[in-house]
Amino acid sequence: MTDITVSAHGLNTAIRAILAGAGSHEREQKLVADHLVLANLTGHDSHGVGMLPNYIASAREGRHRVNGKAELVDDAGALLTFDGGTSYGQVVAFEAMEIAIERVRRHGVAVVSIRNSNHVGRIGHWAEQCAASGYVSIHFCCGFANRTLVAPFGGTDARFGTNPFCAGFPRPGDEPIILDFATSKIAAGKVRVAMNKGETLPEEVLLDAKGKPTTDPKQLYVPPTGALLPIGGHKGYGLAFICELFGGALSGGGTWTKAKLGRRVNVNNMFSIVVDPQRLGGRDVMAEEARNFAEWVKASPPADGVEIVLLPGEPERQRKKKRLADGIPIDTNTWNEVIAAAESVGVPRTEIAHLVGVIL
Ligand code: NAD
Repeated sequence: MTDITVSAHGLNTAIRAILAGAGSHEREQKLVADHLVLANLTGHDSHGVGMLPNYIASAREGRHRVNGKAELVDDAGALLTFDGGTSYGQVVAFEAMEIAIERVRRHGVAVVSIRNSNHVGRIGHWAEQCAASGYVSIHFCCGFANRTLVAPFGGTDARFGTNPFCAGFPRPGDEPIILDFATSKIAAGKVRVAMNKGETLPEEVLLDAKGKPTTDPKQLYVPPTGALLPIGGHKGYGLAFICELFGGALSGGGTWTKAKLGRRVNVNNMFSIVVDPQRLGGRDVMAEEARNFAEWVKASPPADGVEIVLLPGEPERQRKKKRLADGIPIDTNTWNEVIAAAESVGVPRTEIAHLVGVIL
């Protein structure tokens, strides 16, 4: 079987059917499927439907809650503390941002912490949700799976996760600026995708279990496992550290310690600040300054091999446009895992084939 290319709509319908098989009600099916397929559309296959097999295994084994919600455990008006109760992060973060947006309308700002959510996926999704309401946002995220993934600057073994940072800046009349990245040199999911495709990694992103550089993606997944390196040397490591403190220590969700190694849960914690620009410099000033600055920056003569200088968020929009038109490519290993997940919850491969519109 070769890699397949599927339409976003067909893929979305199939993912909903699998989630339904695992017990999710319609709203949860929609929130999770929309999130995963949008991650694929924007080119972040690491956070797309390839995550589903893990989610389904976790749901079947009762490691996270199906049909749960974001519980507002402390409500101080503009200061909100949510407990995700291990529910789907795509539901928890969506609901938390919904309430935050309502509070920003009232107070001009909302400071939000989410603890104990399941995986919240592509963090840009949450900045986009805030930007769609006209609000600026920043997000610091950290989490626990069964093991650590990233080495500290100057260290040789993994001590924390890929701790993503994200900031969103709406531009009235134009697309928002969305900066969204893992603080490891490469997102762990992208190592999984490379391994599934049989590809090697760039130099200087991964250490093997002995702390030596390697380009073999299996070194992150097949024991004894190695460690990803943080972006930007000591500065990126510092940002990862801050994500752990803001996301994990401030929220009460907790930070990595030896005691957490081997736990069979995938928990994310996130600290977000959402602001109405109208209550600061004003929306019109903000829009004009953002437009002028973007034009000024994009006018920089492109370097050799570069077509055009892009803004944060532009590569995702370009990929989304292309994949909406041409379809979403999915590698064979990932697709086989998705089919196996479907069959594990009683959805036959023939039904998936029918829903996505391909012959399997
Ligand atoms: P990445 O390395 O592709 O960087 C993405 C950011 O850089 C985006 O803001 C993008 O617009 C910008 N960018 C990329 N190329 C650009 C260019 N040529 N010019 C200008 N800007 C450019 O992202 P990543 O580190 O691989 O992260 C992938 C995703 O993984 C993110 O959505 C992140 O939120 C997610 N993630 C989630 C978790 C979690 O636990 N939930 C953990 C890690 C990462």
